[in-house]
Amino acid sequence: MTDLPQTENTEDRASQGDEFSKALSNVFGFHGFRDNQEEIVRAIMSGRDVFAVMPTGGGKSLCYQLPAHLLEGTCVVISPLISLMKDQVDAAKVNGLAAEFLNSSLDASERTRVSREMSAGKLDLLYVAPERFAAPGFLDVLKTVPISLFAIDEAHCISEWGHDFRPDYLSLSHIVAEFGDTPLAAFTATATSRVQDDIIDRLALRDPHVTRASFNRPNLSYQVAPKGDVDDQILTFLAERSGEAGIVYRTTRKSVEQTAAELVHNGVNARPYHAGLEDETRKANQEAFNRDDVTVIVATVAFGMGIDKSNVRFVIHADLPKNMEGYYQETGRAGRDGEPAHCVLYYSRGDIPKIRFFINQIEDDAQRASASAKLNDMVNFATVNVCRRRQLLGYFGQSLDESDCTGCDVCSGTVDRVDAAKEAQIVMSAILRTGQRFGAVHIADVVTGANTQRIRELKHDQLKTYGAGSDRDKSYWRGIIDDLTAQGCVVRTDGEYPVLHLTAAGREVLFGRREFQVLRQREAPAAPRRKRTSRKQAKQIKQQITDFDRGLFEKLRALRRSLAQERNLAPFIIFSDRTLREMAHFTPTTPSEMRNITGVGDQKLLQYGGDFIAAIEDHLSG
Ligand code: ADP
Ligand code: ZN
Repeated sequence: MTDLPQTENTEDRASQGDEFSKALSNVFGFHGFRDNQEEIVRAIMSGRDVFAVMPTGGGKSLCYQLPAHLLEGTCVVISPLISLMKDQVDAAKVNGLAAEFLNSSLDASERTRVSREMSAGKLDLLYVAPERFAAPGFLDVLKTVPISLFAIDEAHCISEWGHDFRPDYLSLSHIVAEFGDTPLAAFTATATSRVQDDIIDRLALRDPHVTRASFNRPNLSYQVAPKGDVDDQILTFLAERSGEAGIVYRTTRKSVEQTAAELVHNGVNARPYHAGLEDETRKANQEAFNRDDVTVIVATVAFGMGIDKSNVRFVIHADLPKNMEGYYQETGRAGRDGEPAHCVLYYSRGDIPKIRFFINQIEDDAQRASASAKLNDMVNFATVNVCRRRQLLGYFGQSLDESDCTGCDVCSGTVDRVDAAKEAQIVMSAILRTGQRFGAVHIADVVTGANTQRIRELKHDQLKTYGAGSDRDKSYWRGIIDDLTAQGCVVRTDGEYPVLHLTAAGREVLFGRREFQVLRQREAPAAPRRKRTSRKQAKQIKQQITDFDRGLFEKLRALRRSLAQERNLAPFIIFSDRTLREMAHFTPTTPSEMRNITGVGDQKLLQYGGDFIAAIEDHLSG
């Protein structure tokens, strides 16, 4: 075994044998805390309430599982997603924690068994659904059990200002009054400051330790590529990532079915997922994906809630998402394990009218305007020449220096920023000269010098800008109009026949007082590469192990799968991709070497160490 794996944030304390770091290593096999984890653990251990916003994959569960292990009594975890509870409990159990769940999926005898263990105070962790919490008598039972801590997952569900209010969550507002000194820790991945205040208020948290982590997901890289024959593009993309798990998002059920069929036809192990499928089929497809039996899931946005698979290596958007919230949430399902994962959006301006059509059906004026503005923000993201990561964070009110981007196509130079002021001026001049009374189709006709009856009738063929852009086709000019809209130079009016108007910013560009640039894909796009790595980035990306033995990795992955199948577990619960990658790099062949791998704690070493060492030895001698 070569040198020890270095992980992020390994603090001096670790070497001083700090109690928390020891448990972190022994129980979870981690060599350092991630950002914010240690502060939260310390707050809970000192008896304080906690409110934490941390992105998906930020490592929220460790923040309560570690105290649950160290503290006397049972940690009660309230989580709304019944479908996730089994995986969460399995994951805690394989690390040696005494964990169970109580929800409607248990039969009566299992419920009795769990209740008995709970009453006997044998559990470190008890996961319950909020409706169980609200059920009459449950609090009285809980009061007979020594409780170490309450942890509330998806805490935004208690707020009516949030995007996922659940009335059952309101019953959680009694915890503080009923359980006196027991600390309460609330976690969520999304909360505006308004929602945050509301949650703290409703749960009656007492001077909580508050964490608002960055939304940044440093291990995700972002790319926007022009959309052509998107199924072909996906196949090309997949060809370089054989066997890696990923999600392809499409807008409609029909396109989901088509793409899934096309992928299967080309030998990809893919399945569809959308609300139109039979319940059973949908569940089975999700489960197969979760268990690595299927590598690619092609889905509508209905897919995602209730997925905590940690080794999703890519998320493809084959159609334009409606807004940035959705895009962030969907891409956020990639790389929960902290390993590199790639997010590609295939962008075509042709997707815009379809979304606009649906937006125009919204009755409420304010809602329609808001949806329309959100779509513009999304188009902006895809077309503007600003670091994708910076835009994404900026959308959520957070900042990032461009030099701190850990990977996007703009920063890595696979797209070029080109000056398009002249083209912008041609378009905007045509808009002005036609009295700001026409839509994009007509303006593109004027600019390209189309010989239509409408143009002749309106005498637009006599305008100075008529045919000024005849060297390019209409779709090129429609693209410029979209760029202008996205960058706020031109606005499109609402209504059945939207027309284009210039904004103040547009006039600045028109009169040459302001630059106008657009993004253009390089002819032969290179794989995204990082230009420079600052110290901060290095810390953020962690040590990414790239020079590992692929063949061994595949063998270990197969072993993980078969062990998981035997035990009815999801494979990522046994070991994460990162853990397997480290094994394939450091090739540990003794228990103590194995124990040094990230994610191998005492219990997992005992359970699985032997099998994996044998596989590694076999590979090395073969
Ligand atoms: P969240 O609930 O915030 O989305 P999880 O709690 O599921 O995130 O953690 C995401 C992944 O990160 C899991 O695979 C978990 O094992 C891993 N993880 C958490 N904390 C650490 C750590 N300190 N070091 C290494 N891996 C970690
Ligand atoms: Zn960037």
